[in-house]
Amino acid sequence: MVNDKLKKQNKTKQKTTKASVEQKSSKSQKTHKNQKSQKTQKTTKSQKVQKAQKPGKAVKASKPLKSSKAAKSSKPKHKLKIIPLGGLLEIGKNMTAFEYGNDMIIIDVGMAFGGEDTPGIDCVIQDYTYIRQNAHKLRGIVLTHGHEDHIGGLPYFLREFKCPVYGGKLTIELVRHKLEDNGISLKGIGLNACKNGEVVKLGNSFTAEFVRVNHSIACSYAIALRTPVGVVVHSGDFKIDYTPINGKVIDLQRFGELGHEGVLCFMCESTNVEKEGSSPSEKYVGESFQRIFQKAEGRIIVATFSSNVHRMQQIITAAEKYGRHVALCGRSMINVFNAANSLGYIDMLPDTIIDISAIKRYADEEVVVLTTGSQAEPMSALSRMAFASHREVEIREGDTVIISAHPIPGNEKPIYKLIDELFKRGADVIYESLAEVHVSGHAYRNEIKLLHTLLKPKFFIPVHGEYRMLFRHAQLAQSLGQDPEDIFILRNGDVFETDGVRAEVTGEVPAQAILIDGSSATVRDDHVMSDRMHLGESGCISISLTIDDATETLACRPSVASMGFLFDDEKDDVHEGLADYVEGLIENRADPAELIETRIVTRAFRNGVREYLYDRTKRRPMVLMNVSHVSLGKGKKRR
Ligand SMILES: [Zn+2]
Ligand SMILES: [Zn+2]
Repeated sequence: MVNDKLKKQNKTKQKTTKASVEQKSSKSQKTHKNQKSQKTQKTTKSQKVQKAQKPGKAVKASKPLKSSKAAKSSKPKHKLKIIPLGGLLEIGKNMTAFEYGNDMIIIDVGMAFGGEDTPGIDCVIQDYTYIRQNAHKLRGIVLTHGHEDHIGGLPYFLREFKCPVYGGKLTIELVRHKLEDNGISLKGIGLNACKNGEVVKLGNSFTAEFVRVNHSIACSYAIALRTPVGVVVHSGDFKIDYTPINGKVIDLQRFGELGHEGVLCFMCESTNVEKEGSSPSEKYVGESFQRIFQKAEGRIIVATFSSNVHRMQQIITAAEKYGRHVALCGRSMINVFNAANSLGYIDMLPDTIIDISAIKRYADEEVVVLTTGSQAEPMSALSRMAFASHREVEIREGDTVIISAHPIPGNEKPIYKLIDELFKRGADVIYESLAEVHVSGHAYRNEIKLLHTLLKPKFFIPVHGEYRMLFRHAQLAQSLGQDPEDIFILRNGDVFETDGVRAEVTGEVPAQAILIDGSSATVRDDHVMSDRMHLGESGCISISLTIDDATETLACRPSVASMGFLFDDEKDDVHEGLADYVEGLIENRADPAELIETRIVTRAFRNGVREYLYDRTKRRPMVLMNVSHVSLGKGKKRR
């Protein structure tokens, strides 16, 4: 419903933020910088040269500035379209299409997990309708980093569309595994690993430059996308970590240069825009690990997000320092470790990693188990260890369990249940509220302000967040001097168009959430979801009737069964009562000539059954009717 309200709001005027802020006057002056960055056809070539250069030298990419000045006068032939297909008014399934003339590229193809309103759903992806209609324009996919909400949709996307994919080394490695796991051939795709500063050409209209940022996974990049109407910077997910684990600080210098050159549009993530100050450095967590490892006497079990390679590194470092070996547990943990290790991202001694099946051969104080399951997913390794269904590890007294992750909203309950279980088994459990064992990978307000100020964009689009986050982010941008006229809070499917001077939302394309359930794909409005929720809440009851066609009577008493509806002490009573009631409804029908099968589909009959059940139980289960036919004849009725 909130969406509907928002829809209306946005329909009347696309910029919801405008209402809330004072208007600033001198908006026309603000375009000056961006025009400088137009005409990238030339820049494309000069940047291509850099591909051969060492990473980090991309600084020279600002050179084209001069050439673009010369080309300033000619008007662009087309407008640039920016179409977010996912990731707005939500956290998850990020995907944005950029279109200019006959070229289209995509930044990120993520997925989201099913939520409370989509029971049983494996994952949620974007609506590809618009891509399908414009598939001939597709020039490539650029990935900011390897988190599921940015790459998780690729197996679905690349099954249908073939185009080259560009991303950081680790990102590409993770994508490769993902595609192999899903049996998707790499034919016609082409996976390309890119370094900081690398520039790739996509069609005639776009070049994408990878600009290093910090985040909770290695190889995270912002994308500086050069288009014929100006430079668009997409932040990806980022934070500013001055003391990152791999020593590679966000390339603030390059952001400054881009800002100096002129940025037409900045799309910035909004995850932590509600948090004041700056996010702590990942190093901070490492120090906590060292303190905990120093004190712990028994086994140490650490649960964290498998994708956080920096966290993995810190745990390995702490383990080595205190004479422990590390066993990896959980499929995704092992996959990411292997990918990161094969790229040389893990710094460790040769004998640090041991097989999980070998831990019994080591003393407790020599073991660290690094596991998935920090969100208490029921089938995850940590849950199975806690509920004693894991083959190799069962939590017992003396264990120290560290949950090094923040509960994803909605997961709090199962996580606390899991923590309770771990305590009950005698483990010492350290989670976020007790010690600093997790820091966020997303920028807080101060970090966002810095990046925004460095880039000084003409237009601003907050992305990667729910509505309140985008809204707060828009306000933040205004407080930094961004003209409210130039801030756009978009919805998935909105078509944002700009000629480099002006911008407006000109329409919308289909952008429904597509739910994936096993091998089926469907839209959210499908009745299956509401049925599932109804079933989950109230259960179901089925009434089976056998009609004797020879006499048009019931051949036997209705049989009633239910699931998830009645408690044991009421079950028999209600079943019997309902059978009698239904039998009465049929036998005492006003018009005996009316066929039973016609009778039972009438509203009066269905309502009668529903009311009977509600009167008895004050609940409304789903009711299923089954009918079968026999031909027995008079006097053959069986009880
Ligand atoms: Zn991320
Ligand atoms: Zn993300």
